[in-house]
Amino acid sequence: MEKEEREKRCHVLVLTYPSQGHINPLLQFAKRLLSKGVKATLVTTHYAARSICAQGVGVETISDGFDDGGFTQAPSAEAYVESFRTVGSRTLGELVLKLQEMGSPVGCIVYDSFLPWALDVARERGIFGASFFTNSASVCSIYWRVHRGLMALPDLTGAVPVSIPGLPPLGSSELPSFLAAPTSYPAYLSAIFDQLTNLDKNDWAFGNTFEELESEVAKAMTGLWPVTMLGPMVPSAYIDKRIKEDTGYGGSLWKPNSDEYMKWLGRRAPNSVVYVSFGSMAGVIAEQMEEVAWGLRESDQHFLWVVKELEQGKLPDGFVKSIQEIGLIVNWCDQLEVLSHQAVGCFVTHCGWNSTLEGLSLRVPMVGVPQWSDQPTNAKCVEDVWGVGVRAKSDDKGIVRREELKTCIREVMEGERSLVIKRNAIKWRELAKEAINEGGSSDKKIDEFVERLLNVKSN
Ligand code: UDP
Repeated sequence: MEKEEREKRCHVLVLTYPSQGHINPLLQFAKRLLSKGVKATLVTTHYAARSICAQGVGVETISDGFDDGGFTQAPSAEAYVESFRTVGSRTLGELVLKLQEMGSPVGCIVYDSFLPWALDVARERGIFGASFFTNSASVCSIYWRVHRGLMALPDLTGAVPVSIPGLPPLGSSELPSFLAAPTSYPAYLSAIFDQLTNLDKNDWAFGNTFEELESEVAKAMTGLWPVTMLGPMVPSAYIDKRIKEDTGYGGSLWKPNSDEYMKWLGRRAPNSVVYVSFGSMAGVIAEQMEEVAWGLRESDQHFLWVVKELEQGKLPDGFVKSIQEIGLIVNWCDQLEVLSHQAVGCFVTHCGWNSTLEGLSLRVPMVGVPQWSDQPTNAKCVEDVWGVGVRAKSDDKGIVRREELKTCIREVMEGERSLVIKRNAIKWRELAKEAINEGGSSDKKIDEFVERLLNVKSN
């Protein structure tokens, strides 16, 4: 089928929640579709769309009700979720109509699972709807089991580990925090359960992971849920190198000063630098920041630490001055550029799912310092399922102390386990690459999706 004909047959809208950890994988999915000759347009809010510039991918906007400042303008998380649902549904419906009138009818909406109302819009317009999960399958399966009543909420003392098919036993500090402490963020927990309510009504459900990585969970969930694993959604230049122009995500909400840190990294020996990031949402408490700061300074390793502008006030007095020889603090970076630099030998990460997948895909040994949400479970898998790093232990106050951080960094970079960790990291990188490369498990799933879209239209 000619390219033009394919593009006419299936125009897919890829709708993302407007935060970095959601934009990146969905934008990548849009690029994968484009590379297979499908017209794919990224849809996000007015506020987030200003930052997106990815080669080849068109961007359309809808409204979350807060067009000037996005989430930060909303009075509360509850108000934001509700406004996005009502205003977002209406404006998404209007967008589908507009595109139809412009002669570019939409055949399918692939939506961020965090925005489940998009399926109702797809149904109203008589087009396909597919949910896209940005968490690991392990985490989604835990939520799914609790939602379906197949698993009770954990014993809050954490004394009895929870047994979940396909996963090692999990203590309460290893479960997603919204489940371990259900009253901590009720709006997010209910949004997470909402995305599971209509799961079976979708034409497809996708997960940003790959079968080989979560094979035990995949087996345990066979026949129970419809989720297809088709990741990792990492720019092609860093993994399979098949999409020439795909050299970075292209949707960064903050602008990095690449020159500065790339030059700095260029002066370091291979595998000698600790790269530290707590992701895009940050919110690390001051006491924890302080412990990380002194732990890094005392670790005797060079380090590059992303501390977002709003967080810099949490650094201890005199710290920045005291690390001039050994450390560099930046507001933001192109994380893939950093992780793939030969100087980087360890990734101290909050274990957001994208960061975890990026660490795995670029074979960088990790030290997990999880903060909330799905991060504790991802950190558990990093250590005990994939063997690509260690999880730093926190004290009774939930703080990872400087000594512990130093020990973990040493363990990963030169300790007893470091060789096994490095070997595992290489293994998982190869498996990640195979999965998304031509004919790999994830690539085949994307092909099947594309073929079904094309064939339904031509029948
Ligand atoms: N990221 C980045 N530069 C930074 C920090 C993070 O480009 O300085 C990217 C990172 O590559 C990842 C995303 O931001 O793709 C963060 O997503 P993740 O799921 O790891 O964490 P979240 O920010 O959602 O907590």
